[in-house]
Amino acid sequence: MFDLIDLHTHSLHSDGSLTPAELVARAALRKITVLALTDHDTMAGCDEALASCREHGIGFVPGAELTAGWRGQEIHIVGLGLDATNPVLQAQFDDILARRRRRISAIGEKLRREPALAGQDPTAAVLAGVGVPTRTHVARELVRLGLADGVQQAFDRYLARRKPGYVPQEWPDIETTIAAIRAAGGHAVLAHAHRYKLSHGGLKELCAAFRAAGGAGIEVSLPGTSPADASRLASLARAHDLAGSVASDFHEPGLPWRPLGRFDKLPDQVVPILARLTPL
Ligand code: AMP
Ligand code: MN
Ligand code: MN
Ligand code: MN
Repeated sequence: MFDLIDLHTHSLHSDGSLTPAELVARAALRKITVLALTDHDTMAGCDEALASCREHGIGFVPGAELTAGWRGQEIHIVGLGLDATNPVLQAQFDDILARRRRRISAIGEKLRREPALAGQDPTAAVLAGVGVPTRTHVARELVRLGLADGVQQAFDRYLARRKPGYVPQEWPDIETTIAAIRAAGGHAVLAHAHRYKLSHGGLKELCAAFRAAGGAGIEVSLPGTSPADASRLASLARAHDLAGSVASDFHEPGLPWRPLGRFDKLPDQVVPILARLTPL
């Protein structure tokens, strides 16, 4: 039989809602056997997650989801089996965090000029209180201040592209990102490739560049993919010699269509990335 595993999850150390211990407790309830914590651009939750996984007898894979850029498109690369103490990886996190903080500050400047906000700046609390500040945190703060009814409305009114608080961002290239993951002993996995705004030809070129730079895998089993997308992801894995990953991208219990854990079952002729990992 197949086991439930999950190689892409978030905690409140980035934009998830659960503590690492709460995330692991949820994984235990669901009888998940192997779990990776892959917060955006930080491994701050991994010690706590490892300790909880040990209590519950779950295999733990220390990871992170690194933000990168390719041809102007934001690309997410999941690093699995990372050594958090590696200085090259730490420098990569520091670089991304500095970019994030500069961007959130610039968003704050724009929002302060926005009449509807009457001078209130939702980014101050985010910059002061969050390890890895994201636009989602700013959206939640806009909701808390009563300036939007929900996170989606906060994006639609203020934070999405072409809205008054939008600030574009350049991210480190995929080569540097993959090199940092490998320097830390990890395997680089291309995250949710079906969600990028790329043509099919563009996606193939991305996979080729990703593989050429030392990328090891691609997420092929994800919640909510259409049959066409699922088969496209499997084809990309086979064509570019990338192993397949199983990934919920879980952020919070409030999103039931993205549950924690998936069956450890991959399409034919897709090699599991899990076979290359040594869960702790
Ligand atoms: P950041 O990394 O700061 O750009 O924040 C990115 C996060 O914001 C994404 O992971 C999404 O969860 C969320 N997000 C981005 N664009 C939108 C949008 N148009 N509507 C709702 N959420 C969005
Ligand atoms: Mn996220
Ligand atoms: Mn992502
Ligand atoms: Mn994610």
